[in-house]
Amino acid sequence: MNKLRRTLLQVSAIIVAAGSGNRLGGEVPKQFQLLRGKPILCHTLQVFEHCDLIENIVVVASEEWLGYVSQQMVDRFAISKIKKVVTGGKQRQDSVFAGLQALKGEAEIVAVHDGVRPFITDDKLKEVIDAALKFGAAILAVPPRDTIKIEKSGFVEKTPSRDKLWCVQTPQVFKFDLIYNAYVKAFEHGIYHTDDSALVERLGWQVKIVEGEQENIKITVPFDLKIAESILSEREE
Ligand code: C5P
Repeated sequence: MNKLRRTLLQVSAIIVAAGSGNRLGGEVPKQFQLLRGKPILCHTLQVFEHCDLIENIVVVASEEWLGYVSQQMVDRFAISKIKKVVTGGKQRQDSVFAGLQALKGEAEIVAVHDGVRPFITDDKLKEVIDAALKFGAAILAVPPRDTIKIEKSGFVEKTPSRDKLWCVQTPQVFKFDLIYNAYVKAFEHGIYHTDDSALVERLGWQVKIVEGEQENIKITVPFDLKIAESILSEREE
């Protein structure tokens, strides 16, 4: 990607952290649990803070955690690119839309990322942004390590060929107007997805797949914390 095109465009990030899930156990939602003394969300935000293609960040949190996010991420950990902290919604899609509304009229390209994926690297973030600048929409994904089955009533209906399957991650990066319109249309039709790209795909847009890294895990269950610790140890060596 040529540097001129990059500098002409403003890339904003929406980091969603409004989930209430605590399948990790403990008292607090997973994005606020500590990893080496720092909230998982903070590890994630630091990657975006240090990426020179990212202009600003909107963090989406639930009402009760807004104060914590402002105090910890903005004041204590000095994530200076945070432009707004906004209230999320019941489902992830509602939370992303809250972030999009906060950026309306101000962003040209937007990278949507899960607050609980702290191991995204600067290189992959830039690679997926570059692909979105070229194709309008791009996602990171990795090939599945297991064979995937489609089920019907408790039995296997079919076994799709693995070479056509991808496990999708975030960031997912889009031209702002494209993703905003996709969200508006999805809500108009009562459609909910757990994945932003799916809303753009249903408009017939071709979304580019960029091969990501297995390390970009979504920290969800206690076992993931063990993996997270070992990724951090390895990176420190
Ligand atoms: O658990 P799930 O896969 O939905 O979480 C992915 C990301 O979406 C997490 O960072 C979580 O905080 C966020 N999320 C959100 N609002 C929701 C549900 C999830 O911001 N209502």
